[in-house]
Amino acid sequence: MVRNVLIMGPPGSGKGTQAARIAERRGIAHISTGDMLRAAMVAGSELGQRVKEVVDRGDLVPDELMLELVLDRLGQPDATAGFLLDGFPRTIAQAEALCAALEGERVLERIILLKVPEEILVARVLGRGRVDDTEETIRHRLRVYRESTRPVLDVLEGKVDRVDIDGVGEIEEITARIEAALGA
Ligand code: AMP
Repeated sequence: MVRNVLIMGPPGSGKGTQAARIAERRGIAHISTGDMLRAAMVAGSELGQRVKEVVDRGDLVPDELMLELVLDRLGQPDATAGFLLDGFPRTIAQAEALCAALEGERVLERIILLKVPEEILVARVLGRGRVDDTEETIRHRLRVYRESTRPVLDVLEGKVDRVDIDGVGEIEEITARIEAALGA
């Protein structure tokens, strides 16, 4: 069974929703860096205070900080059963550092790429109502995705199998498409 998975897609592609559903069904850890950062900001922790401005702007938190956060999370017991990374890696540097850190049995086995047309993304995100979800920041985050995150796929090309999934449709329908791509 495929246990170590990365889900990718632009903001508004539904990756958070799908990741939570898939991780629960497969009994693997859902590792959402966006959720982790938002929890830290709500708690007002030192990390939360450090990243707030950057996240509110829709920019990327520095790679070293993200890497530390994710490696620590991957070291927790529930992640040994498998993990679904959601929102990380988001830069080439993060992808390279992750590949270097995951050796042997814990290598990434599959990438799920959710594809959704841009007009639908903007409409979905505006309907979501998160603090970092203004029209200006969503356009900015889409640009950051295109410029910094999309190239991660080129780095992983040939190393990790990727399946492109049509991300338009009902939530259940899309979950079924992802399940089919991951296999039993
Ligand atoms: P998300 O919920 O995945 O859309 O993440 C929300 C915000 O958290 C992003 O717009 C970034 O500011 C920050 N963030 C989440 N994951 C990362 C990452 N891997 N690298 C840098 N910044 C991140």
